[in-house]
Amino acid sequence: MVVSPSRLIIAGALLALAVATAGARQGPAPRAALPFSVISADARRPLAASFVGETVMVSLDDLAALFHLAVREDALAGGVTVGYKGRTVILTAGQALASAGGRLVSLPAPPVKDGRRWLVPVEFVSRALGPVYDARLDVRKNSRLVLVGDVRVPRVAVRQEPHGAETRVIIALNPKAPYSISQETGRVLVRFDADALDASLPAFSPLPLLQSIHLSESGQTIALDVGPRFGSFRASLAVPDEGGVQVIVDLLPAAAEQAPQAPPRSGPPPLPVPPPPDLQPPVAQPTAGTLRTVVIDAGHGGNDSGARGPTGVLEKDIALALARRLKSALESRVGVRVLLTRDADQAVPLDDRAALANNSKADLFVSLHANASARQTVSGAQVYFFSADHAADDGRKSVPPPQTLPTLGGGSRVIEMIPWEMAQLRHLGESALLAGAVEDRCRDRVRMNPHPVLQAPLRVLAGANMPAVVVEVGFLTNPDDELQLVSEAFQNTLTQALVDGFLRYRDAAGRARPPQTAAPAPRQEPIRRRP
Ligand SMILES: [Zn+2]
Repeated sequence: MVVSPSRLIIAGALLALAVATAGARQGPAPRAALPFSVISADARRPLAASFVGETVMVSLDDLAALFHLAVREDALAGGVTVGYKGRTVILTAGQALASAGGRLVSLPAPPVKDGRRWLVPVEFVSRALGPVYDARLDVRKNSRLVLVGDVRVPRVAVRQEPHGAETRVIIALNPKAPYSISQETGRVLVRFDADALDASLPAFSPLPLLQSIHLSESGQTIALDVGPRFGSFRASLAVPDEGGVQVIVDLLPAAAEQAPQAPPRSGPPPLPVPPPPDLQPPVAQPTAGTLRTVVIDAGHGGNDSGARGPTGVLEKDIALALARRLKSALESRVGVRVLLTRDADQAVPLDDRAALANNSKADLFVSLHANASARQTVSGAQVYFFSADHAADDGRKSVPPPQTLPTLGGGSRVIEMIPWEMAQLRHLGESALLAGAVEDRCRDRVRMNPHPVLQAPLRVLAGANMPAVVVEVGFLTNPDDELQLVSEAFQNTLTQALVDGFLRYRDAAGRARPPQTAAPAPRQEPIRRRP
């Protein structure tokens, strides 16, 4: 293409205009945006933000104060130099690029001069400042967070859904963190032990039980503003496949809402009608002594065979066979609902096993295993319940005991604190009673180990939010036990003994809630092997 002299003149004029306006603000004026929070291990500080067009911008002066930067304007070049400990970031007016320690990085928009101050897209912090800064810098734009260094900021996704007459709120947290739930006038608070939450909250129209969901100013608490019909709440836990944890809060209507409402009518008053028995006020926890749902866990499965006997009998097969027998015996003899954590030769993660029991609001969780020992002479069945003493021994973070947990101020009442891996702690007394009852009914019919009831920090029990035991039905490494365990007669006897044990527990727990010391004097022994 041939360039005419007139075009050259126009191009020159445009260039002169560009030079003249370099450094002055171009485009739309900034509009206020919600501030960001800069979270470091020791502090939480605000960072003002504004919109320029659709871009979220922050001021270099504010960043200089927060991150100890030296900002120097180069009027001649129409740019800014940002210094940090001898390293530099160079910005040029009109360019959506920066040089960070000599490397070019892109920005979503060019820097903008607004009066005396320079505005940069908030992504400048992670993309341009990050490479020259001492600590990791992470911008979580949706939750308006700037994370400095290693801080614990789990991602939180909240959703609500109708759940019969109740409203269910599901708070998914990844990675998991300890939490507490409390109730104040007009709201239910779920507070997480984290530096901040990277939260995405649902927008929805106010409901009779739930008006709104918001993140508290401290950034660590999800507040559920309850509606006029709210009565109480029930909390439970689930452990989804993809890791993390789900806190499930069911908001229950006030008791009056449960009774059928007679429509206003004229004429003679209606005859009193007793409320149907299934419209009793809801209870937050399964009452001791009720037995409606039992979750049976067949240990191991898939690639994990568990123990192996001298003739090759596998623990996973014994466990599944017994679980199926126990299910049909419980269903036919007691009429309870029974769920199996697996009904095939498949791998199931340990935490998912207790999670199934939690999700199905089971009254009992029973995990079936067969043991192994280096000494062939060791034999007999054993019943384990959870031990808190060594609960933190398997590398997981220990949690403070309940009495030292922080309480929320302002007259609130902390009513439960369940780090998810510690759910079993509140059921230790009942689990001990269950272990004792099972042992009692097995004792005369099944060969028991000299230490028939033991307490151990078994991972499969830790997350179960109900009375729970592991039954080691014998030692597969003992030739007599192995032979016995594959026999149909023995499997039937053991199954009946276990059912009798559950019934004995139900009756005992129903008479009175047992004191925490109701354990049948368990021995504290280090476990040889995790089931
Ligand atoms: Zn096992």
